[in-house]
Amino acid sequence: MKILMYNTVSDEMPYVEKWTEKTGHEVVTIDQPLNETTVDRAKVFDAITTQQTTAINAPVYAQLAQFNIKQIAIRQVGYDVLDLPEAFAHNIRLSNVAAYSPRAIAEYTLTQLFNLIRHNKKFDRAMNKGDYTWAAGGQAREIHDLTVAVIGVGRIGTALAEMLHAMGATVLGVDPIYRAQNEPFVTYTTLDDALSRADVISFHTPLNDETRYMADENFFDKIQPGTIMLNFARGEIVDMVELEKALESKLLAGAAFDVTPNENDFMNQKQDVTALPADVKRLIEYDNFLLSPHIAFYTNTAIKNMVEMALNDAVTMVNGGVTENEILR
Ligand code: NAD
Repeated sequence: MKILMYNTVSDEMPYVEKWTEKTGHEVVTIDQPLNETTVDRAKVFDAITTQQTTAINAPVYAQLAQFNIKQIAIRQVGYDVLDLPEAFAHNIRLSNVAAYSPRAIAEYTLTQLFNLIRHNKKFDRAMNKGDYTWAAGGQAREIHDLTVAVIGVGRIGTALAEMLHAMGATVLGVDPIYRAQNEPFVTYTTLDDALSRADVISFHTPLNDETRYMADENFFDKIQPGTIMLNFARGEIVDMVELEKALESKLLAGAAFDVTPNENDFMNQKQDVTALPADVKRLIEYDNFLLSPHIAFYTNTAIKNMVEMALNDAVTMVNGGVTENEILR
C-alpha cells in the first residue's frame, strides 16, 4: 500500500522507517499540512495521514473522494481540525490517536510537581546569583504527605493517580464517570470536597462547555491556602487572571502550567521574551510559577505511538477493517 504522510517532522522519521521495514508498505513523507493546495499530492496514494493544527476544510474531502481516498488518519488526539460532516458525506473514514502515551503527560506533571515542592526554580535563580544557602529556596515537602485532587480521571488522570498512589500520596478523584477499577488508588469524591482537602489540584479534563474556565473566582474561593495548582490539560480550563491573583495573594503556594489560553501566540515558536503576552511575562517572574511549552506529551514513546498507530489505522481502514481509534459518525 502507498501512504502519503502530510506534515511530517524529523522526529517521526526513524519510526516511519522502522514501520515500513516491518510492514512492507510504502510511505512518502512531505512537510506540508493537508489543505486545498496540497490535496492533489494524494492522487496516486491509497491512504493518507496527517498531524496538524490548521483546519482541513470542506473542498479537501470532495477532492480526496475523487482520488478514491477512503480515510484520513490523524496522528494526534484533537480532531477539531477535521470537518466531520463533510468527511462522512464523502464516505471518508477518520481516525485519531487518542492515547499515544498517557504516561508521558502524567510523568511530566509529576516532574513539575516535584520541581515545585523542592523549590527548584528558587534555588536555581539564587545559585545563578552565587547564593548557595538552604534559605534561598526553603524547606521542601515530601510527596507521601500530600493529598492530590485529580480533576478528570480519564487516561492521563488515571496514569497520574497510579503513580502518585505508588509513591504514598493520597489521591482524590473528581470525574462524572466512575471507574471501579480505579478504586485501589483513587478515592472518588465531589469537586467541593476535593478542593477543601487538597494540597495539590491537577486538571486532566477535556476542554468543553463545562470545563471552560472551570477554575474561576468561585473555584479559587474554595481552595485551601497553600495549594499547588497544575494544568497540563488545556489552557482555557483556568482563568489566568484568577491564577495571577492567587499567586500574588499567596493563596497558591505554587503552580505549574504546560498550557495557557493564549498559547498559540507564543508556544512552539522562537521569539524575543519582550514579545511574550503581558500576562505570561508577569507570570514567569514568579519563582513559584513554572511554565513549559506544551511539551508534556513530547517523548520518544509518544511520537513512536502516534506514527505507528496512525499508519496501522490507515492500512486497517483502507482494507475495510475495524480500529478502536475510528472517529464514528
Ligand atoms: P480522557 O478523555 O481520557 O479523560 C478525561 C476525563 O475527564 C474523563 O474521564 C471525563 O469523564 C472527565 N471529565 C469531563 N468533564 C469533567 C468535569 N467537568 N469534571 C471532572 N472530570 C471531567 O482525556 P485524556 O486523554 O486523559 O486527556 C486529558 C486532558 O489532557 C485533555 O484536555 C487533553 O487535551 C490534555 N492533553 C494534554 C497534553 C499535553 O501535552 N499537555 C497531551 C495530551 C492531552
